[in-house]
Parts: sequence; C-alpha cells; structure tokens
Amino acid sequence: VNPWKNLVVQNFGGTSLATPERIKQVASRVVEEKRAGKDIIVVVSAMGDTTDRLFKLAKVVSSNPPKRELDMLLTAGERISMSLLSMAISEMGYEAISFTGSQSGIVTDTAHTRAKIVDVRAFRVKDELTKGKIVIVAGFQGVSPTKEVTTLGRGGSDTTCVALAAAFDAGRCEIFTDVGGVYTADPRLVPNARKLGAISYDEMLELAFCGAGVLHWRSVDIARRFGVDIHVRSSFSKECGTVVTAKEKIERTDIRGITQDLNVVRIAVADPSDPVAVTNRILTTLERFDIPAKLVVASRLEKKSTVSIVIPKDQIEEITARLAEEPDLNKVSLDDDVATISIVGNGLCARPGVARTVLESLARSGIKPLAISTSGISMTVLARRQNIVAAIRNLHSDLGLDATRNGTQ
Ligand code: ASP
Ligand code: MG
Repeated sequence: VNPWKNLVVQNFGGTSLATPERIKQVASRVVEEKRAGKDIIVVVSAMGDTTDRLFKLAKVVSSNPPKRELDMLLTAGERISMSLLSMAISEMGYEAISFTGSQSGIVTDTAHTRAKIVDVRAFRVKDELTKGKIVIVAGFQGVSPTKEVTTLGRGGSDTTCVALAAAFDAGRCEIFTDVGGVYTADPRLVPNARKLGAISYDEMLELAFCGAGVLHWRSVDIARRFGVDIHVRSSFSKECGTVVTAKEKIERTDIRGITQDLNVVRIAVADPSDPVAVTNRILTTLERFDIPAKLVVASRLEKKSTVSIVIPKDQIEEITARLAEEPDLNKVSLDDDVATISIVGNGLCARPGVARTVLESLARSGIKPLAISTSGISMTVLARRQNIVAAIRNLHSDLGLDATRNGTQ
C-alpha cells in the first residue's frame, strides 16, 4: 500500500503569487484541501516577475555574472514567496513550515543555472507532513553534493513539483497557472485556442520542448518516467484543467496544438565546404556546455551547402564566446531574427495533408519558411519573426483548431 495516497503536491506559478492578496488566496485554497483531510506539499515560484528583476540586477553589476552567484541570487525569489505563504497559512490558524530546496532534499548535479535533479531525500518534508503540517517548498532550486545552491533552469518549479510527487508517489500532482490548462495554442496569442481535456506525455513533451511555456519540459519527462499524472489547472478558478497522462490509449491522429518559440537564435554557416563536419564541430561545442539544439539543418545538395542550427536565445552569450574560441569556426554568424512554429499531434507523420495545409496557410500569411523539419509527432517551421503571431492565428484556424461555440474538447 502507498502511504502517501492522501498526499497532494501542488505548484503555484509566479502570477498566482504576484501580490500579497494573491498569496492569501493561495493560502485559502491550500487550507481548503487541508480541511478536506489531505496532506499537502506546496511548491512555490517566485512572486510575479521577481526572477526577471533579480536577473536584470545581476546584469547591472556584472556583464557576465558568475553562475554560482547567479544561483545564490535567483533562489532568493522563491525564499520570499515560500515564507510569505507559510505566514499567510499560519495566520489562518493552520500549521505550515517552509523549506528551501536544500532543506527539502532536492539533490542536483553541479551544473549551476541548469542543474538536473539526481535524488530526492525529502526526510524533513516527510517528518513535517507526518506531524500534520502543510509543507511549503521553494521550487526551481536544489543543492549539489558539494552543498552548493543550484537552480534547475527557468520555469523549473514545475520540475520540483513533479519530482516530489514522483518521490512520494503522491495521490495527486497539480500545477496551477494563470491560463488554467493546456490549450491548442497559447491563449494569450490566439484568442480562439481551445483547452484540452487530456494530452499524452509524448505530445506534451514535444509541445513544451518546442516552446509552450505552460509546463517545463523536464517536468513532463519526469512525469512520463514515473507515471505521474499532471493536472494543469487555473489558480483563479475552480474550472477543470488539462491532465497530462499516459492513459490516452485510443489511436488518434489529430492535431493537438501549435506552439511557437520566439526565444531562439540561428547559428548559420555560409557555404561551408563540408557542412556535416562543421555541424559536428558546432554540436560538440554545444554539447560541452549542455546547450540543446532545437533544430539542425545541414545539407550539401546541387553544389550548395548550408548549415543552420537553432538554439535557445538565453544562452547566446555563452555560445558566442565558445564559438569565438574555435579558430576554424570564424565563418559562423548568429541570426536572431528567427522564430519556430511547431505543430504537434500523434500520428502527424501519417498525414501528409497536414504539412501541405501548414505551408499553404503560412504562405497566405506571407511567411516564407527558412527550414522545415518533421518527426513522427511534430512538424517545425523556422521563419522570420515578422508577422508571426498573425500567421499562427491563421494557421490555428486553417487547421480546424479554433473553438466553436459548442464546447471545449
Ligand atoms: N522563478 C523561476 C522562474 O521564473 C522558476 C519558476 O517560476 O518556475 O523561472
Ligand atoms: Mg511555471
């Protein structure tokens, strides 16, 4: 028997905790679960845009802040929200205690600013739950084996939440966001986007990796490996949200969603004599710094060679510095006027008509793809940024994803 079937692990994002009033609302919501007899771990993000502000602060005093110190700084954001939430809960007459990532036993590797969780030793969390307390855990942070404070990468509090749910084999894992679920497109950009009732791990992983901000892709990866159902819900209402789960067994070949990534740059090499060798060199450099390549295009066809490698923009400084150190990579340039649009759905590969619809729709919106790549469950188009939001809205409609008046599914 699982002793923690009664345990609920919840994560509240920055928007849900942006003001003292919202923190009090979250406290009431947590207390309501407690009254219903649940054990609760609440994983918190930093209030509002605190993490962005701390990051900017670092940039004021340093052009290239040491990563260890950056982690020290950024983890302060979650410490503020965890203690305030704990106080707000105490104020309502319930016992709560807040813990840092380190105190919660979130053990990571040593890669500052993008550490991976290697173990969860949640002894203190367990003890306090056993005493009946509501435990508040700072998301997005951990401790390395050498006792250094680390962070899991932007958006990482989702990952803390799922890792704790997996470690306890909790009865329920819930992620509360401002949008209230997983949609067929970002509802802030596409007003006609529909909320999905359920989505498979594979599709969610692909959406998250291709830029959907609603969940950190690593949280989905952990959920898939440990079989944790993630309930994505609204922190501002009681509406039901989306469940990310394996239990979507019927064979479907419909499109689940469109996502975009505006936070990318393209590493380009003009007419290399050996495009594959150059690609290899660049990928080796990226690998050494654990920087994921989101799209790789290398070809030598009809006497023309090209190399395009798309990476996250937030690592651009690191990449520029690394590539500059490589003497024979001096023909490399960085192009930041790009974005990717991805279409995700199981069985997409079996429907060539989808690609045609996508290309025709983009053409009508004036988008000329720079590169296209497909996988079994997705199709990604690299394009110039201009007009991209309008293009996504049109595409959403052309693919038949727009909400109709009769319902969400
Ligand atoms: N506060 C961190 C961030 O803004 C972690 C999170 O919110 O998930 O990236
Ligand atoms: Mg988040």
